[in-house]
Amino acid sequence: MAQRRRGTVRDLRRGNRAVLLRELYFSGPRSRQELSAATGLSQASVSNVTRELISEGIVAEVGSVDSEVGRPRVLLQVNPDYGYVVGVDVGETRVQVELFDLAMTEQAKADYPMDPARHPAPEVVAAILAGIDAVLADGGVPREAVLGVGIGVPGVVEQRPEVIVDAQTLGWDRVPLERLLRAGTDLPLLIDNGANTMGRAELWFGAGRGTQNLVVGLIGSGVGAAIISQGTADRGSSASAGEWGHTPVVVCGRTCRCGNVGCLEAYVGAEAMLERYAEAGGAVAAADQESALAALILEAGTAGTVGARIIDETIRYLGAAIGGLINLLNPERVILGGWAGLLLGETYLDAIRDAARRHSLRHPFATTSIELCTLGPDAVALGAATLPLEMFLNGE
Ligand SMILES: [Zn+2]
Repeated sequence: MAQRRRGTVRDLRRGNRAVLLRELYFSGPRSRQELSAATGLSQASVSNVTRELISEGIVAEVGSVDSEVGRPRVLLQVNPDYGYVVGVDVGETRVQVELFDLAMTEQAKADYPMDPARHPAPEVVAAILAGIDAVLADGGVPREAVLGVGIGVPGVVEQRPEVIVDAQTLGWDRVPLERLLRAGTDLPLLIDNGANTMGRAELWFGAGRGTQNLVVGLIGSGVGAAIISQGTADRGSSASAGEWGHTPVVVCGRTCRCGNVGCLEAYVGAEAMLERYAEAGGAVAAADQESALAALILEAGTAGTVGARIIDETIRYLGAAIGGLINLLNPERVILGGWAGLLLGETYLDAIRDAARRHSLRHPFATTSIELCTLGPDAVALGAATLPLEMFLNGE
């Protein structure tokens, strides 16, 4: 009984510590009085926990503000140099490794180009391990100061009993990524789907700040999404939730990369948009998808062109798909990103909103907003680095 009671007291203290640390991290600098008001913890608890955090070097005093009565209030903030986190983006064309301090300011970065046609797991693992060594050396950070490494990968990431990655676009079939990396590092490793890490980056630092329920729709060559429910990624029963690109928008429609027909990705993915344009008689001049899509969007500015028709249809398919998300999930915000999503959204966001409105029920549409990602298409590594950061803030 006494043992259980001690356990409960310890859990309570750990809970208070996590609540205070999160409040300071996301809203700091703050005075002890403000912390007490914001968290509902007593002044005494705040004072005890902050004393502990200051003595451990996690929190620092960063000045003071005058108060209306009595002494000036000392402001507290999470010490950005207490530790560091590493974020890794495993993409089809490159492995990118970035080192951040706790304020998520980039300290160093390493890039390893990949042949888009082949991604053997041992080569990707070697690039990640080399990247971790390189950014620590560049940033002058000893490995003891690293709280963990977050890794965003394409495909489905099973967490248990060990991390297994199935990534069709990389040609990976049940790759035990964590076990392979363990041969070269003993740092804590956290692995998640890249769309989910991008979603977390937008939730914590971008267009999703201040919300709890959102969907981040990502359009690149293909189409994916991160569904964030009550502040955490909703992965479904076996970690494949968010495959928005493979929701049907046309029964008996175009063939998709996944082998089915009529998927959203077969209409609004950059590759599909360019294919539809070429089939309709449009001339795809540029060699790379990004310039070709930019040219198509430019042509669409002139009424009556093939480009105008293709973009108009694309917006209708996209609007139907966003409307479906709004009706199904009732999100506070829908955020559109990915390089192609941003390219399209910069010119056509209002038209996309209008198309989504036509396919949404009135009530859920009225309580949501449709915005563009603000962190750009390279936020996968930043989002991955929030995985060890969250572990730290939760006191794990
Ligand atoms: Zn599909």
